Order: sequence, then C-alpha cells, then structure tokens
Amino acid sequence: MNIILLGPPGAGKGTQAKVLEESHGLKQLSTGDMLRAAVAAGSDMGLKAKAIMDRGDLVSDEVILAVVAERMDQPDVKKGVVFDGFPRTPAQAEALDSMLAKRGQKLDAVIEMKVEDEELVKRISGRFTCAKCGTGYHDSFARPKVDGVCDVCGGTEFIRRADDNEKTVRDRLKVYNEQTAPLVSYYAKRGNLHSVDGMADIKMVTASIGRILDGIEG
Ligand code: ADP
Ligand code: ADP
Ligand code: ZN
Repeated sequence: MNIILLGPPGAGKGTQAKVLEESHGLKQLSTGDMLRAAVAAGSDMGLKAKAIMDRGDLVSDEVILAVVAERMDQPDVKKGVVFDGFPRTPAQAEALDSMLAKRGQKLDAVIEMKVEDEELVKRISGRFTCAKCGTGYHDSFARPKVDGVCDVCGGTEFIRRADDNEKTVRDRLKVYNEQTAPLVSYYAKRGNLHSVDGMADIKMVTASIGRILDGIEG
C-alpha cells in the first residue's frame, strides 16, 4: 500500500507517518528528512538545499525527484510507502505517477490533513525531535512522559529546526498555498483523495486515518 499524507507544514504528517510505520508496516519517505540528512552530511546538494530550506522555499523538482527515485529503488520500501512532504508541486505529482507505474505499483490513497494557519504556527513554533531516533514532540501538545527523555529510545538530546521560526513558517505556508495546495484538486479528480480533520488531537487523527485505510484494504 502506498499513501500520501498531504498537508501544510505542521499539519502532523510526520507524526502520523511514524504511527503508520508501526501500525501498517509502511516506510515513511520524508523528503524533508532526506534533505536534512544531506545537509548534515555536508554534500554539495545539501549545501545548496540548506539556503533554500532556511528561506522556506522549495528545493527544485529535479533534485527532489532524483532523491526520491533513488530511495524508491531500495528494497525496504517495496512493501509500501507513506509519502510525507512529497509531492509538493504538480510536476512532482506527475513524476510520482510514472515512478510508481514503472515499478508496477500504484497510489492507494491521498490523505489531506486540514489544519488552520494559526494552529500551524503554534505547532511549528513548539516542535522538537529526538536527536537519536527522530521521534517528534511539542512543548505543549506532545511532551515526553519524562521531561528531557525520549519515550521511544531514552535519548536525552533534542533538536529544533532552523526553519521552525514564526517568520519562516509564514513564508512556508504561503509557498504551500501557492505551489502545493493545487494537488488537492489534482488528486480529487483522480478519485483517491480523502480528508481528515487535522485539528483534532493526535490519537483522533490516527483513528480517522485508520478508518480510511481499513476502507481501502477491505
Ligand atoms: P508535519 O510533518 O506535517 O510538518 P509534525 O508531525 O512534525 O508536522 O507536527 C508538527 C508539531 O505539532 C509537532 O511538534 C507535533 O508533536 C505536533 N502535533 C502533531 N499532530 C498534532 C495534533 N493533532 N495536535 C497537536 N499537536 C500536534
Ligand atoms: P514541513 O512538513 O514542516 O514543511 P519538511 O521537512 O517536509 O517540512 O520540509 C522542509 C523543507 O525542505 C521545505 O520547506 C523545503 O524547503 C524542503 N522540501 C522538503 N520536501 C520537499 C519537496 N518535496 N519539494 C521541494 N522542497 C522540499
Ligand atoms: Zn528517541
């Protein structure tokens, strides 16, 4: 099963993708995480991408598609992928269609996560992740059970992203509305678009997504 979580920055895509890895045996494919890994590795591509990401703009379709195509050829994604933060432009959506077709696969569902702008700003301003395992947390909405200790791996180091500040968030929302929001109608026309209320709490959103996927599998 291959699904896309489609929604603005802070909608909860990464949070729910991690849940789906456990509950549905899917692999999370986050182009944002892949780019941040390239930045951390100091590759040429990473250096170029960093400046673009810090501004809140989109990295070029060409670079993103090369990275995704390479990832799709690795054996661990054959059982199914939850795309998180990809596709982000109509050109990426079309390229994904042909990438899947070439590999004899299909897209089973696109799940749009709807969240209001002011809530997105709050979520992103309070976001942090475990440095060791990548589990996501929030200062108010999703604190670790024990302060300063990751629930999942026991790690005690956490990271805040350079682009998770209010100014860049507002730029990223604008970019989302201009370049990514058109994908909602692209997938609606194809009949595999589903929507969930992303304003609900994390467990409720998980339940809504679960019901959609049950409907598809059944
Ligand atoms: P995205 O991957 O869409 O950018 P994240 O999954 O990283 O979003 O979530 C953004 C922030 O909001 C994180 O700090 C996360 O813990 C928190 N969060 C995610 N889903 C919810 C929710 N349903 N309610 C409240 N906070 C949430
Ligand atoms: P969020 O879900 O919080 O917006 P991501 O981690 O998905 O953040 O993306 C962070 C940044 O990485 C984006 O603002 C953009 O610069 C770049 N990026 C990630 N995925 C893509 C993509 N599919 N196309 C273009 N740029 C991307
Ligand atoms: Zn951890």
